[in-house]
Amino acid sequence: MAMTKAQTLHCKTALLPDGWARDVRLQIAGGQIKKITRDAKPVAGDERVAIAVPGVGNLHSHAFQRAMAGLTERRGQGDDSFWTWRSLMYRFVADMTPDDVEAVAAQAYVEMLEAGFTRVGEFHYVHHAADGRPYDDIAEMAARIAAAADRTGIGLTLLPVFYAHGEFGGAAPGAAQARFLNDPDRYARLIAESRAAVSGLPDAVVGIAPHSLRAVTPDELSAILPLAGDNPVHIHIAEQVKEVADCVAWSAKRPVEWLLDAAPVDRRWCLVHATHMTEEELNRLAGSGAVAGLCPITEANLGDGIFPAGAFQAVGGAFGVGSDSNVRISLTEELRLLEYGQRLQGQVRNVMAGAAEKSTGRTLFDAAVGGGAQALGVDGGLKVGASADIVSLDADHPALTARAGDDLLDSFIFAGGDRLISSVWRAGQKVVSDGVHHQRAAVSARYRRTLKRLLA
Ligand code: ZN
Repeated sequence: MAMTKAQTLHCKTALLPDGWARDVRLQIAGGQIKKITRDAKPVAGDERVAIAVPGVGNLHSHAFQRAMAGLTERRGQGDDSFWTWRSLMYRFVADMTPDDVEAVAAQAYVEMLEAGFTRVGEFHYVHHAADGRPYDDIAEMAARIAAAADRTGIGLTLLPVFYAHGEFGGAAPGAAQARFLNDPDRYARLIAESRAAVSGLPDAVVGIAPHSLRAVTPDELSAILPLAGDNPVHIHIAEQVKEVADCVAWSAKRPVEWLLDAAPVDRRWCLVHATHMTEEELNRLAGSGAVAGLCPITEANLGDGIFPAGAFQAVGGAFGVGSDSNVRISLTEELRLLEYGQRLQGQVRNVMAGAAEKSTGRTLFDAAVGGGAQALGVDGGLKVGASADIVSLDADHPALTARAGDDLLDSFIFAGGDRLISSVWRAGQKVVSDGVHHQRAAVSARYRRTLKRLLA
């Protein structure tokens, strides 16, 4: 895609890894930050920026689900739950072609970049044709995700999902799951072909993703783990109370407990949701170095429960945020809801600030930058050697009037929200100006055509 290339940004104020700095020049080459100078005067040719913060990794997305956002908000017969939502999702995905997936993913990625997410962890499980037969190119769908990333410029960490069973204990999958299924041998081929499919993207990462303990047997988990190498390993876990009960019935252990006992969980891992944990599980997960992948908007939308974020943070647990079902795509809203869930539950304020006098917004933002980068297998933050993934905020917006330092982030997250985002650079290329992605019109036109056909 054609984009404006930034060589040097001069930022009146910028959030560096050790805190806010003034008059910061960021020199960019080959998509990376090559040099950072503080207290520097702007030089002719510098692009001038008022407030710069690092882009954030969206560590968990199912891009295609953006197309069904808002279509599952009617009550069915009896109690609605995650499981009734899932049946609707299965019906929706049955009709999607590779073209459709590419069109919807591109729309979702445009919206992510406009929201300040500069890399996406795509937890990608729709691999095959509707009847379950692989496409001629087994990585056809992975190539479509890569095409959407290329079109929009978002950084891609592709997490092809291993899915083989319908329930704990290796139960047979249902017909609606046919598009997701592989055995370990075919999955190894899918991973190899997915690496080839993203090879045109300069800094794509391919990890692995055992879908959940429901979908993978212990033997299969052992068989696929070596495919990760040093790259990320993501898994859905302990999202639902029923899932915890089913896991206990199967193994006499809770899901997080089972995984920590059975698998070499370390810094490569991202445990997505991990909503339902005992204190012992929480302490062990924090000690493992793995990232908890929190998706507060989706967890609220699906009625999953509230992650014990304050307790997890207090014992040094790493976490980041993901937009998961993409019912909303908003970094500030994920962070705000993460904090508000803790406030509503504990009837206290500023839980995630962690300590007296600290800013809640700053603490949440730093955690999302660090946890997001770790979970997606890249370096994060505005530092030399990291990708030049940069978000600028609108200093003239009323919500930022007379703010400085961490008050900027608190006002961004809790007051102004996404409309404060002015420009976004991804790997040094400006992809968003005045809050609008440069490809928005064309990408949205294709998205509308796709949706009209799918929902006709
Ligand atoms: Zn998910």
